[in-house]
This record gives sequence, C-alpha cells and structure tokens, in this order.
Amino acid sequence: MRRFTGDRLVVATHNRGKLEEIRDLLQPYGVTTTSNADHDLPEPVEDGTTFVENARIKAHAASKATGLPALSDDSGIEIEALDNAPGVHTADWAETGNGRDFVMAMTRAHDELVARQAPQPWRARFSCTLVLAWPDGHDEIFPGTMPGRIVWPMRGDRGHGYDPIFQPDGYDETFGEMDRWEKNKISHRADAFKKLIAGCFD
Ligand code: IMP
Repeated sequence: MRRFTGDRLVVATHNRGKLEEIRDLLQPYGVTTTSNADHDLPEPVEDGTTFVENARIKAHAASKATGLPALSDDSGIEIEALDNAPGVHTADWAETGNGRDFVMAMTRAHDELVARQAPQPWRARFSCTLVLAWPDGHDEIFPGTMPGRIVWPMRGDRGHGYDPIFQPDGYDETFGEMDRWEKNKISHRADAFKKLIAGCFD
C-alpha cells in the first residue's frame, strides 16, 4: 500500500460537512487540506454504478486537475428489500430540482417498502468508500459500512440525510437521535477512515 508522504492534500468534495470532518481527522498528521472550491474545480459527472467507481471518478478528477494527491468520499444507504436501492442514487432521491429534501427521500424509501410488503425488520446498511488518488494515476481504496435497519416513523432531528430512519445494529437510537460524537465513532465513515489512517498515514 502506498503511504501519503506529502504535506498537501485536496479533499475532492463540495460538501462542507464532509470537508470539515476530513480536515479534523487529518489535522494530527500535519496535512494542509484544500477543497474543490479552493481550486475552482467543477463537480465531475458521477456516472459510476458503485460507490467505489464514483469515489474513484471524484478523486482522480481532482488529483489530475491540481497535480496533488486527492481524497474523495462516496457514500449512501442500501436497503435490502429494495434490491439495495437507493445506493449510488441516495442523494438523487432527495433532489427536488430546487435543492434537496430528505424527508421526501425517506418517505419514498418507506413507501416503497410498504408497497412491496417487505417483512420487518427492514435490513439496511450505510456505506462509505474513501479513495486516495495520486497524480500519476495510483489510488488506494477504503470501504466502510454500518449495518442496521430502517425504522418508521422518523426519529430524531440530529445528523443529516437519512439519519432519522436508520437504527444501527446494537443501538436503540437512530443516527438522528444519537449524539454526534457517538455517531462519528461508529459510522460507516469512521470505519473507512480507520482503514485509511492505518493504511496511508500512521
Ligand atoms: P454523495 O455526496 O454523492 O456521496 O452522496 C451521499 C448521500 O448519502 C447523501 O445524500 C447523504 O445524505 C447520504 N449519506 C451519506 N452518509 C450519511 C450519513 O451518515 N447519514 C445520513 N445520510 C448519509
């Protein structure tokens, strides 16, 4: 596995939340991070069919454009009884044409489960793939997951996205009810980050 030896890294995201989280995480390693916005990079078309493909598209686009190593994150929720949808379309389900509406997206997930008469518990998992890419085309891939179930009605007003309908295995609270630090210790993103740090930074 290739180690990260430089001191500058582009975080290949337009999502402020992800950027802050990644900055916090890499701070102890003396890495200066910039983002797509700092380099005026357009968002590449995410036309992959897996989290890995989309994460690679984002990381390589940013790395090639800047000549710096780039780290991307592609994530989403997969619901077993919906043939693992929304998966790579997790963000698309919330798209209204005028911003994102996650209550609409969560309602769609619930309605489709009911329409299919899917037996409970409604098994699901959050996935996150991190890709660290270098300008010479090399990359390292780190997948993370958190298994759990879909609950209805929505519970909790913390977190973001689909958090209020996802109850991780081993916990009584949904991600939307959980303390942020608690969630960030056990989440799919935390799982992928642990592997990234162990593989390329420690
Ligand atoms: P991406 O930015 O293209 O990777 O899209 C990720 C999608 O998955 C977004 O719609 C997020 O809201 C959703 N998502 C990813 N991680 C989480 C999470 O931890 N909680 C809730 N939703 C998440």
